[in-house]
Amino acid sequence: MPPISFIEGFEKLRLLDAAIEQSHNSVVITDADLDAGPRIIYVNAGFERMTGYTREEALGQTPRMLQGPATSRAVLDRMRGALACGECFDGEAINYRKDGSWYYVRWHISPVHSQEDERRVTHFVSVQQDISEDRRRDDQLRLLSTALEVSADPVLITDPEGTITYVNAAFEDQTGYSRNEAQGQNPRILKSGQQDAAFYQELWATLKRGEAFRGEFVNRRRDGSLMHMEQSISPVTNAEGEVTHYVSIGKDVTDRVRMEEEIRRLAHTDWLTGLANRLSLGNTLESEMERSRRYGRPLSLIMFDIDHFKDFNDDYGHETGDEVLKRLAVTVREGLREADSLGRWGGEEFLVVVPETSGSGAEAMAEKLRKAVAAMETSCPISVTASFGVTEMRPGDTPKSLTRRVDEAMYQAKEAGRNRVVLL
Ligand code: GH3
Ligand code: MG
Ligand code: MG
Repeated sequence: MPPISFIEGFEKLRLLDAAIEQSHNSVVITDADLDAGPRIIYVNAGFERMTGYTREEALGQTPRMLQGPATSRAVLDRMRGALACGECFDGEAINYRKDGSWYYVRWHISPVHSQEDERRVTHFVSVQQDISEDRRRDDQLRLLSTALEVSADPVLITDPEGTITYVNAAFEDQTGYSRNEAQGQNPRILKSGQQDAAFYQELWATLKRGEAFRGEFVNRRRDGSLMHMEQSISPVTNAEGEVTHYVSIGKDVTDRVRMEEEIRRLAHTDWLTGLANRLSLGNTLESEMERSRRYGRPLSLIMFDIDHFKDFNDDYGHETGDEVLKRLAVTVREGLREADSLGRWGGEEFLVVVPETSGSGAEAMAEKLRKAVAAMETSCPISVTASFGVTEMRPGDTPKSLTRRVDEAMYQAKEAGRNRVVLL
């Protein structure tokens, strides 16, 4: 091994001087006279660039020339205390350039001790770094992270492997998972099982293309309840184009979805009896006719209308009439099978779609229902009866022809004296 040669004497000084001159940082050397000074005895080129003062202007001055109204008094007091005790000092404050503009500086001051007397400080060496850009970035980051924290919408950030690295307060509130519980987990903890494999394939395909994915998720909260979230998930890439994070911003739309469900339910439900309304029953009839045709299975309809209901209303009042309608709905529903669909077709007219049943089978069912209605107890002294029409679907029937025929059967039951069943 070649011997290591140490640089010594004048050569060493020359090299150190060159190193300091090239430093991006500002280097200031002062004497140690804290009362009158300290006076600047050396500044490097970095100082000139940072402050706008030339070497000639700085020499003999005190570093106080860099201080101004916004320079922290507390930091300066701490600095003076440290220097008076001959200690090192680290601090950050605002300094001013020659042109009056300011910058953030971080500086480190070391006392230089006398070679003869270790206790005596002869100089101070101060190295200063402009940290304005760091500060601006910090401020910006603080601003953005505060915005995330106070956002009403839940935010979740994962690493490229999908491990959660950050969740905001709204996420904690709305999912029930605390930050500590969520961090280190996979967003799978929110999975409700309501999205199929195709949904996730689409999600990953979109993210792998480097695009944002937007979709409605059904998530499971910590307590097991479900929440609907409109979520947008975006990949975040670094300068090399590699994904460093995925950011997901959600919006709880549970209330909206529930409201939509309720509106849909209301649109298909009769407000008085809670039965299917005509619209809904019409849909059921169409799909049952389709099914019956496809599988070659019988399908029948039962339609019934309360007898002399107008007189009933006139004698006992409309409200009592309403009660009878509700009571009747319950009674008839109880007399049907799960597969039968009962709905309110008109004012006091009801329709039952009876799958897998022939006309004669439905006729027997209607007879049973007729008896149940006649035996029904109401708040009125007289019994309520209804007239029933029954028919079975025939080849070539449309929903219209089928309902017209069952209506005709019911009309014949009325004609024949009411409180009876007619099969047509
Ligand atoms: P029938 O059917 O035996 O020929 O005689 P009806 O008196 O029942 O005659 P119709 O079916 O034409 O009369 C319908 C009556 O039903 C009119 C109205 O007073 C009553 N009605 C219809 N919808 C409601 C309702 O929602 N509540 C109440 N209370 N009555 C209703
Ligand atoms: Mg009637
Ligand atoms: Mg009627």
